[in-house]
Amino acid sequence: MLDKGENIKRRILVPVIIALVVISTIAVSITYRSQTQRIQLSATTKISQARLLLQMLLKKDTELLSSLNNYVRQIPALQNDWLKGDKQALLHNALPVYNELNKRYGVTHFYFIAKDTRCFLRVHQPNRSGDVINRLTMQKAINNKAMGAGVELGPLGTLTLRVVYPWYIKGELTGYIELGQEIDYAISSLHKMLGLELVLLLKKNLLDQQRWVDTMQKLGRENLAWQQFNTHVIIDRTMGKSPKLETRLYDEYTLNHQASKQGQISTITGDDHRHFSTGFIPLIDAGGNDVGFIAIFDDITPDQLALQSFSTTLILSLIVIAIIIFGGFYRYIDKIEQSLLTSVRKLIEASLAREAVLKQANNATAEANQLKNRFLANMSHELRTPMNGVMGMLQVLHETPLTEQQSGYLNVALDSSRDLSKLISDLLDFSRMECGELIFEKHTFDLHTLFHDTVTGLAETARKKGLQLTEQISPDVPVKISADPHRLKQVLNSLIGNAIKFTQQGSIAVHLGIRQVEQEETMLVFHVLDTGIGVAEQMHEQIFSPFIQADGSSTRHYGGSGLGLAIAKKIIEQAGGKIHIDSAAGEGSCFYFTLPITHEN
Ligand code: ADP
Repeated sequence: MLDKGENIKRRILVPVIIALVVISTIAVSITYRSQTQRIQLSATTKISQARLLLQMLLKKDTELLSSLNNYVRQIPALQNDWLKGDKQALLHNALPVYNELNKRYGVTHFYFIAKDTRCFLRVHQPNRSGDVINRLTMQKAINNKAMGAGVELGPLGTLTLRVVYPWYIKGELTGYIELGQEIDYAISSLHKMLGLELVLLLKKNLLDQQRWVDTMQKLGRENLAWQQFNTHVIIDRTMGKSPKLETRLYDEYTLNHQASKQGQISTITGDDHRHFSTGFIPLIDAGGNDVGFIAIFDDITPDQLALQSFSTTLILSLIVIAIIIFGGFYRYIDKIEQSLLTSVRKLIEASLAREAVLKQANNATAEANQLKNRFLANMSHELRTPMNGVMGMLQVLHETPLTEQQSGYLNVALDSSRDLSKLISDLLDFSRMECGELIFEKHTFDLHTLFHDTVTGLAETARKKGLQLTEQISPDVPVKISADPHRLKQVLNSLIGNAIKFTQQGSIAVHLGIRQVEQEETMLVFHVLDTGIGVAEQMHEQIFSPFIQADGSSTRHYGGSGLGLAIAKKIIEQAGGKIHIDSAAGEGSCFYFTLPITHEN
């Protein structure tokens, strides 16, 4: 038991370790998740800001071009030249205006368009005219009779914000003026303002492949390849060429970021293991057509590295804390365990000492009992010798001629000495029984004769009380049996003697029968029935215990030691039988017992 110390420690410490590990894991994963979410959130915010900023830039530029267009339409010299249809004069007067607008506001396109939508004059380069302008912004201006504005994609991949106005002079429609601005700057503006990387991709089917490739070659922009993707071509990028990253972004766009999912942000890893949060801004032209998209990258690598080092530090700190807690707990439990073990040891010692004392006391009691029983047995034996002498002499005296009075006294003395002799016999048997020294013998004898003689021996006593004593033996009861005849006679004497003692009138019937219990086993069954005072049911068990009498007050009236039934029970059980009583107070008694026999033929 004392060796279980390690077990106690293990039982407490194992759950403690598990709890520490679980708590640490939860703490680390919660921290990691919340930090990852924070990084994601900041990327999402930046990308949303980019979307908003682009919208704002376009809106602001539309407003600017709109007011510039208003200004241009009001210039009298231009109105005169226009009404006269003097192209040279118009170019002469419009060129300084265009240069000024180009320099100050980045205006790159300036058209004078006739009512039939033919281009009358391009102030910007190339200076062409006579072609029909059928762009969406133009259509809008005609249809609305007011401003037509929006972004339009050129065959070379230029995105131009165009603002077209009908030109009314003195209330009459004379034609149209268009101002435009290439919006490539938007990409670099977003890059500078938000610190994001951007890539502009346009749909190939809206471009003129040959012209585009030639132009790019002329411009020396070999890093833009027509073949790179199936449906789109990269027009501009704010960072160096990164084929792996661009392929990922293209896959990501075609897989997950179709028109319905524009708002989503995802994380992709680039060529140099850098991580980017990516979002997409769709590009919609003046007619509401999808012409391409801008991919936005937010480099979250530094954040992620910081998160990783933070997590590592956190895990290491938790391990150190766990080791400290564990060590402290280990020592604490060790102390508790030591004091527990000491207490248990003391308890065991105390209980062992108590056990020893008890054992000693028990031994002493058993020894004392043994001595007492032996003394009783010796005493009873010693008492019997003079008692036999007294009884013998009284018997002799009874044979001599005596007066009637003397004879009366002598009878009383004889009865008393017989009672005393019976009492001494019972005491002797009981003492021997207690010492385990009750002697049993086994003889073959005539059961019928023994039964008859025993009943007859008590017939005189019964007759004197005016009681009828009858006997009966079933015919199938064997004559010769092998048992202890002396002890059987003793039991019968005791039961019949009690029946006579506790019956004032009526009869006593003694019966001997036989019962087949099992194939092999036969039982003799003895019944002693009387019409006496009976025994109350609650006393049925107790009267078989030594010194117990059914009614304490009856002692004086009936006499007796309370040992007869206890001795009878012991003898019967020793022989393998059982004794029972069937009785009720005032209704007579029936004592019956069984005895297994091996009968001799
Ligand atoms: P005792 O010496 O008192 O007769 P026993 O052990 O023989 O001792 O009987 C115990 C008690 O059982 C008796 O005192 C008596 O109260 C009750 N008893 C025994 N036999 C009978 C009987 N036949 N009728 C009524 N009571 C009986």
